[in-house]
Formats: sequence, C-alpha cells, structure tokens
Amino acid sequence: MLNRRTFVKASAAAGTLAYWTDPLHAAATLSPVDESAPAGQPAWLKTLRRVGQTNITEHDPAVLDVEAWADYWSRVKAGVVYVSVTGIIAYYQTQVPFHRKGKYLAGKDFFGELNTAARKRGLRTFARMSPDLNWGDALQAHPEWFMRDEQGNAIPTADTPELFQTCTFTPYMTDYMTAIMREINAHYDVDGFYMNGWPMFNMPVCYCNVCRKLPPPKTPAYWDKFNDRVMQLWKLYDNIAKEKNREAFYFANMGGGIHATTNLVQIGEISQWFQADNQGRGRMDDPIWGCTQQGRVCHAIMNGKLAANVTGLWSTGPLRWRESIKSPQETQMWLDETAASGMVPYIHVIGGEKGMGEDRRWEKLGEDYFAWTAKHDVHFMNRRSIANIAVVFGQRTNLFYQAPNDMTMQRNMDGLYSALLEGRFFFDFLHEDQLDPDRLKKYTAVILPNIALLSDAQCAQLRAYVNQGGSLLATFETSMYTDQNARRADFGLADVLGIHTAGKVIGRRGNSNPFYARIERQHAILAGFTDTDWLPGAEYRQPVAAVENPILTVVPGFVAYPPELSYPPTPQTTEPAVVLQERGSSRTAYFPGNIEHSLWIAGNTDLSRLLQNTIRWVAGETNPVTIEGDGLIEAFAWETDPGFAVHILNYTNPNTHRGWLRAFYPIGPQRVRLHLPPGRTIRKAELLRAEKKIPFTMNGGVVEFTIPSIDDYEIAALTAE
Ligand SMILES: [Zn+2]
Repeated sequence: MLNRRTFVKASAAAGTLAYWTDPLHAAATLSPVDESAPAGQPAWLKTLRRVGQTNITEHDPAVLDVEAWADYWSRVKAGVVYVSVTGIIAYYQTQVPFHRKGKYLAGKDFFGELNTAARKRGLRTFARMSPDLNWGDALQAHPEWFMRDEQGNAIPTADTPELFQTCTFTPYMTDYMTAIMREINAHYDVDGFYMNGWPMFNMPVCYCNVCRKLPPPKTPAYWDKFNDRVMQLWKLYDNIAKEKNREAFYFANMGGGIHATTNLVQIGEISQWFQADNQGRGRMDDPIWGCTQQGRVCHAIMNGKLAANVTGLWSTGPLRWRESIKSPQETQMWLDETAASGMVPYIHVIGGEKGMGEDRRWEKLGEDYFAWTAKHDVHFMNRRSIANIAVVFGQRTNLFYQAPNDMTMQRNMDGLYSALLEGRFFFDFLHEDQLDPDRLKKYTAVILPNIALLSDAQCAQLRAYVNQGGSLLATFETSMYTDQNARRADFGLADVLGIHTAGKVIGRRGNSNPFYARIERQHAILAGFTDTDWLPGAEYRQPVAAVENPILTVVPGFVAYPPELSYPPTPQTTEPAVVLQERGSSRTAYFPGNIEHSLWIAGNTDLSRLLQNTIRWVAGETNPVTIEGDGLIEAFAWETDPGFAVHILNYTNPNTHRGWLRAFYPIGPQRVRLHLPPGRTIRKAELLRAEKKIPFTMNGGVVEFTIPSIDDYEIAALTAE
C-alpha cells in the first residue's frame, strides 16, 4: 500500500499534464472527435442505449402475451428488440422449403404479430435468424448442406439428436438463408437482420466435400479461408438487408471476450454492431470481470461503433437453467460492467410461458436498471478512453498457440488482469493487428502477455514504437512464433528486448518446486520486497542467455517432497529471471517465466506485486488518472460528450472469483485525480448512482474529488467546458 501511495505521489508531482502533451502518447494532437456517426452507420445507432430480447421458443406462439411483451420493452425504453424468424423453426407462414413451421404456430403469423406490436410502439426490430442447424428431412434432400465428421457422418447436436449442424462453406448459407431473408423483406419491415449461432465460437472441424478441399482444420491457413468465407457471407447478407431498406444492416453473433473464432479486426471493419454474446460467467472458477474484458475487446476493434453485450438474466454458468433467473447482484454487476466498459446494456430472457415467463422476477430488475440508465444517457456517450497502457490480447496466440500442459491463455490474461486491477492501472486492449504507430502513440507502454504469435511486420511495429520512446513488458514465449505458428530460432523481438533463447521451455518435474528468482541487486521493480533474497519464479520458463548485471536470476526448481530433499542443489545461476533495459524514455522488461499464469493459478501475492511494480516502472509516471482508496476495483475513464466520466466497479466481494455475487460490500472513500487536456475546465461533478453533486477542486489542469462510498458501481460524471 505504502509503495502504491509513494508512486502515486511521485506521479502527481512529476507527471502533471504529461499524458495529454507528451508526443509519444499525444492524445491532445488527435484530430477533433468526429461527432457524426461512423461511415455507413445509421444515425439512430449512435443514440441507442438499451436493447431487450425475449428469445422466442417453439411453444411461445401458444403462450406468450404479445401485447404484454411489447408493452414491457417499450416501458423500459429498449431502443431495439429482436423478433425471431429463425431457420430452425419458422415463426411465420414461410414458403421456403425445409424451413419447418413450429408445432404451435398453427395458422398464425407470430413473427408478424410481434413485429407489428413492437413497431407500433416505436421500437426498432431486428429479424433474428439461426443458420447453424436443420432437421433430418433437409439432410435427406440436401446432404451437401451439412457438416461431416471424418467418417462422413452428419453431426447431430448434443441436446437434440434430430437436429444436425450445417456447414458454413456450403450452399446452405447462400441458398437457404438468403431465401428466408428475402421472404422477410418481401412481407415485413425490419431494421436489420441478426444471425445467432454464427460465426461459431469454436473453429469448425468439418469433412464435407467442400471442407475436404480446404487446408487442415485448426491451422492459420484454414483460418484465412474461414475468415474469407465469413466476410463474403457477411457482405452478401448485408446487401440483402439493404435491398428493402438502405439503412438496414446485417450482423451476427460474437463474444467470448479475448476468445473469438473470426478475425476480430476484420469484423470491426465490416460490422455496424458488435453483438457481444457474453451472457455471464461460464465456468465455475470464472472471475467476475468477464464482461469488462469483453468491453475492452469491443472498444479495441469497433473504432467507436456500437457494441452491445447480451446479459443473460437466466441462470448462466456450468448448469444452465434457461427459465430461472440468477442472483440480481450477479446480473446487476454484469450490467454495470457493460456500461462501465463502454458497451450498451442488453437484457435477455428465454421464452414467454404464462405470458411473460414462469419466473417473472427479471421484469422488475430490468425495469429498474434500464430506468436508471435512461436518466443519464448523455454521460454514457463516450468519445475515447483515457488510458496510458495497452494490453495486447493476441487472437492468433489464443487460437493456435500450443501452451505447455494445462496452461490456458484465458488464465494467463486473468493473471495479468488481476495485477492490473490490484494496481489500479488504466489500460486498453489491442489486437495484434492494431500495432500501427497512430494507435500506439497514445500509450506509454504496451504489455505483451505471452503473445507467442507475432508476424515479422508486427515485431517491426513494436521495434519502431520502442525506438520512438515507447516501453514494453513481455513475458514467456512472446514473439517465439510467427503469425503462421512456426517456431523461430530466436525471439522475433530479441533485439528489442535484449534477449536470446538458450534452449527449450522448461517446466517442473512432477510435483516439484517451480523455479525461484534470486535477487541480485535492488531495483524499482523490487519495491516492497524486504527480508528475502528469493522470490517465486513461475511454473514454466523460456530460458534466455545471460545478461550483464542481472536483477533477478533463476534458481532451478527442486524436490518438494520429501522435505528432507527440498533444498536447492544449484543455488545460483547466471540465467536471468527478468531482463530490463532503459534507453531514453523507453523501458523494456521481459520475464522468461509464465509469471501471470502462475500468479493466477497459485494466487501468489509476490508475483502480483512484482508484476504491478514492473508495469509501473515501464509505464512511467504520467498516469492520466489515479484513484486512491481501499478495495478491489476496476476503473475506466472516458472522455464523453458532456465532458468526462470515471467509472468505478467495486469487486470487493467474496464471490469475485467464484460466482454468483450474493450481496454488495460497500467500500469507503475513493480519491480521484484526473488530468484534463489543455484548455478544458470542469463546471460540474456529480455521482450518477448516488444521484448527487459532489465538490471538486481544479488545480493546474488536474481535477480532484472524492467519492465517499461505492456499493457495486459509481460513475463520477464531469461536465466540462
Ligand atoms: Zn464443411
């Protein structure tokens, strides 16, 4: 704590205004923010702040109360609702062959009833479709539409063996889906088309006649073909959407945080709407911040265009009760994270049994939350983030990198993320295809958390950034592989980081101690470590050649049991456990260990402190925002339409690392200091959750105020001149 405060003080003294005026991260030299909608985007999208969806089941035509449904979404001021057309079950009197009418549809035009009821109330509607599955009769008539396993068998779904998976590369997508879209255009008015269940969350493995001619599944060469196909279909569907209504558009289902199958940068270029289908924590040990990671991904790739995160009000998680809600606190925090990270809140329930569902507790929850956001819409209109650190999330690494044993890139990110939150840093995510100088100049430091796959061109961009005075922090196998997943003989960033490989990745034997890091001399990254000569190392390391004057050296792991043998046979080596360099304003740090992953799986506080110290050292003392106070928080700072906003999420909760949240545990005063761009001054400061004005001071371009307490979420909204 003392150390953090010392650093904060130092930055306050030395770094005044530097964030906005340093040429390296010259946010102040950015062109003025363009207030018109991004190219190709309908103007109404810019002001869309709420989305609602009752996911229509086959039974709903018999039970759902259409008027109550439309009244609800209108009352909560949802700007858009989804109405199911589908592709698996038809909700209208379709003529498209193999578009099977639902069992309870009878002679009804259920899609039409819903669409009319919504539009009568001024709601915009999207026709929701599912291209991923079809039935046995379609399989018999069109065997070429379907995915095949290696033996050539069609692939049924796990829950419903009568439904088979269709293949993205086949005419199912160009003949069948387009016929449905044109049928909708012919008979109804909609604002666009949305496809669920596509493109897939996992890269398809298919041996149909088309796919047999493609490069092997799960390779970068296959990925290129997959991305080409997705882009081709996306454009085709978008053109069909526009055949009736020039403002209409098409989009599909994304999400999964740092994990995605389709090239996210390509999606960002083509899509008007990022549908972040990240509905809640998925696994038992998922931390609460899965939604903000999603928001950071969307912010990186959408360039200011809309991203909406789907919050499932139903019971998401390892056991999924689709028609029973999860704890209101868990849902509320997910919505808080959506708003804080710059996405549009979107609530999602399944089915309308008994009119609005068997479990109707979600209605009030959605109503209260949306009513609160509606009062403060203007302060959620973000122009750009205020952050001095970029974290690369490495999509190719996430897709193709073969991590040792049980190491996962999600845990690797969660380890780094936890250190970033504990250190209260302000950071953005970036995709590895976004390392151009224009984008990087905003940041004093770029973090590469085991970004193993980097092309030569990407390494050159990082080299140029460092030569311009930028700083880097990299770990483990960063740049050891090309973008085609070929292992290099030495790091692609060897010269930039001052390192050379010295052999293969080393793990630990059986249950033995992982390696240790021996302190050779004092340094800022070791602040707070007293009375110890050793620190924990990591589970795995990529050995690197000796360097002059090392700060930390490797003590190889040794026997853990029996304790009689638990001592270091080799107590000292010349192998570095960290490599630091300093040239002008540029600082680089490289950890040969998978330090952030080890931190995450072990919960090791020394590793967190070491990472935080190192991030602070590379990022320098030009923090644009600091927040002092107790508790585990995640914070965002935005330049907004009216001025600025600082969002603070309170994760100080026993269920932060294992869901669901059961209650909120308020934290005390949080003292915020925000450096303003030159020429800006604050007129008013208010708290949007507490709904009251607060006092503030302005001093030398820095605005300072204190948020007295926070339950789950608070937003300090600053109106500026
Ligand atoms: Zn196929």
